[in-house]
Amino acid sequence: MTETGDLADAVRAGDRRALARAITLVESTRADHRADAVALLDAILPATGTASRVGISGAPGAGKSTFIEALGTHLVDAGHRVAVLAVDPSSARSGGSILGDKTRMEELSRRAEAFIRPSPAGGTLGGVARRTREALLVCEAAGFDVVLVETVGVGQSEVAVAGMVDLFVLLLGPGAGDELQGVKRGIVELADLIVVNKADGDLLDAARHTAADYAHALHLVRSTDDGAIDRVRTCSALLGEGIDELWETIGALVAAARASGELDARRADQARAWMWSEVTDTLLDELRSDAAVRTRIEALEDDVSDGRISPAAAAHQVLAAFRSQ
Ligand code: GDP
Repeated sequence: MTETGDLADAVRAGDRRALARAITLVESTRADHRADAVALLDAILPATGTASRVGISGAPGAGKSTFIEALGTHLVDAGHRVAVLAVDPSSARSGGSILGDKTRMEELSRRAEAFIRPSPAGGTLGGVARRTREALLVCEAAGFDVVLVETVGVGQSEVAVAGMVDLFVLLLGPGAGDELQGVKRGIVELADLIVVNKADGDLLDAARHTAADYAHALHLVRSTDDGAIDRVRTCSALLGEGIDELWETIGALVAAARASGELDARRADQARAWMWSEVTDTLLDELRSDAAVRTRIEALEDDVSDGRISPAAAAHQVLAAFRSQ
């Protein structure tokens, strides 16, 4: 038995240290770790695919960590095993992290049935998303039947997360309805479920108004919506109100998608898109890691910046240099 095979077995047996090691392996950017990571993912593949994969997005302050804490503990109390993964574009850009704060989700992190993994630091958003997607499979193989993928961002990271989950939840604060125009629209289109949080105390009316605004917007953008399930909800993560009903709704939406074949089709689309992004990422890694090509790229970037050569011609030369290696 190979070392990777042993690690895969230990992950599948639910060994937490093996789980952490396996995730560290898939997150590694070292080229010599990649082959082991791919072998590990192949070995665990038969044990994956059974979890509910739910994406949760929202601006900073919308209440994501309070919400995930409330939902996660509710799920653990109901007998589920819950993994929380994060895709954090700020960690990709600056090495710092909005979501990586260790004091978040304190109660959930103490539960033996929960596993919380902050976003891998560094790299590009594509790199972070790639590793989160693989970490998701590792968590499934380790027996987590609910995987929550959290993100914060202004578009790109939502697209990445929507591409790896069964259901995408957009979490809003009361009053976010004022920003309905423009940039939010793309994210609203991605959302399977919109949840207006903080529906409590003085904020209750504002939360209801926001929910009504979004129900209207969702009606406008989702032509396939059958209207059978209310896709805009309110809750109070702080008071734990509306959380169990919300999970029921999520379950009903996923069950409906499973019954109609939509879920299988979505996952098949995601798998194909994933394959192609692997091809693209791997090719780009190889291209950039070639010393001679890199020198050529630097010169061509200068030429393009200064307008000495067209971007199309420069791209042609980069590819020609790569092919001649
Ligand atoms: P995140 O940045 O999206 O993770 O947001 P947090 O979970 O850290 O919450 C931001 C702030 O909103 C904190 O002060 C929370 O206590 C507060 N908050 C979160 N959920 C609720 C809620 O349901 N009701 C109220 N009133 N406040 C909330």
